[in-house]
Amino acid sequence: MDFAHLPHPAPVPGETRQQALLNPGFGTLFTDHMVVIDYDADKGGWHQATLGPREAISLDPAAAVLHYAQEIFEGMKAYKREDGSLALFRPEQNARRFNESARRMAMPELPEDLFLESIRQLVAKDRDWVPGDPDGSLYLRPFMFASEAFLGVRPARQYKYILIASPVGPYFKGGAKPVKIWVSRNYTRAAPGGTGAAKTGGNYAASLVPQAEGIENGCDQVVFLDAVEKKWVEELGGMNLFFVFDDGTVITPPLTGTILPGITRDSLIQLLREEGLQVREEPYSIDQWRADATQGRLLETMACGTAAVVTPVGTVLGPDGEFTIGSGGIGQMTNKIRERLVGIQKGTVDDSHGWTLRL
Ligand code: PMP
Repeated sequence: MDFAHLPHPAPVPGETRQQALLNPGFGTLFTDHMVVIDYDADKGGWHQATLGPREAISLDPAAAVLHYAQEIFEGMKAYKREDGSLALFRPEQNARRFNESARRMAMPELPEDLFLESIRQLVAKDRDWVPGDPDGSLYLRPFMFASEAFLGVRPARQYKYILIASPVGPYFKGGAKPVKIWVSRNYTRAAPGGTGAAKTGGNYAASLVPQAEGIENGCDQVVFLDAVEKKWVEELGGMNLFFVFDDGTVITPPLTGTILPGITRDSLIQLLREEGLQVREEPYSIDQWRADATQGRLLETMACGTAAVVTPVGTVLGPDGEFTIGSGGIGQMTNKIRERLVGIQKGTVDDSHGWTLRL
């Protein structure tokens, strides 16, 4: 599909942009442009792709997304390398997961080529917005929502796909500083048969109250337990978990439909195996977590995702009080794997898996 290019009447002046890029924060600064692609089941599906100025969109107040939350999104980063070139990390995996989310939410799939082309076009247009700072990157946010105006509960016939981009610094201030985790007991995130494996807005809306509860209790992030037995550790609000033991084994919760299949998670499974560790995808209980940490069998716990890459979990605050992982600092394997992954993303470590896509 050809993209129509609409001129920007007043892009941000270079000097203002440079100034803003010195301290981009996370998710509050946006580039000049966006991609919009429309879908209409009655007009043959996807049509009319435009790359134009980033601007407000108008929606009918009856647009289905505003009522029944038919919405999905993705999150990925473009990195600037030392030689000035740009690279994406496993973007085809985001394209694939986007369509898995679409299927779960009864939405049309977007051809993977079109997803990737939209990213290429926007990054090329806004390449001056990619921070040069080693901790910075351009966060890309593709999303799709039901735009059809109607109040019946059924899959919509019209959708919009939009791609915006946001220059970002590190997700957690302080970089790989250990985080403190709140164990949510009053709230769960996803039930069997629900939408936990889809990247859909409602999952995140439901996580806000437990997240606020965690912050009130002095924690940085929430860990959710399974919705049935309230026993098995699932994931954080936006990150997957890995538990590293003193006998060379690693456990990460399995993909049973209630957690998001993280692309960082999949990459870490491979990297940890290459380090000679035995990685098992199996359920791990909160009681076992506490016992293993207290007895010293558990050396490290890592949280991982696109935004924060690999972050050590230092302390866990549960209903029976607090426990510390290892010394409460950043563990050896967490550090090693983080450096290796960041190195692959930034092009300073050999990408033997072919995970990066140069732009
Ligand atoms: N779990 C949840 C709930 C998330 O939102 C994310 C971020 N996409 C992750 C895990 C990590 O996924 P990824 O490594 O693909 O960013």
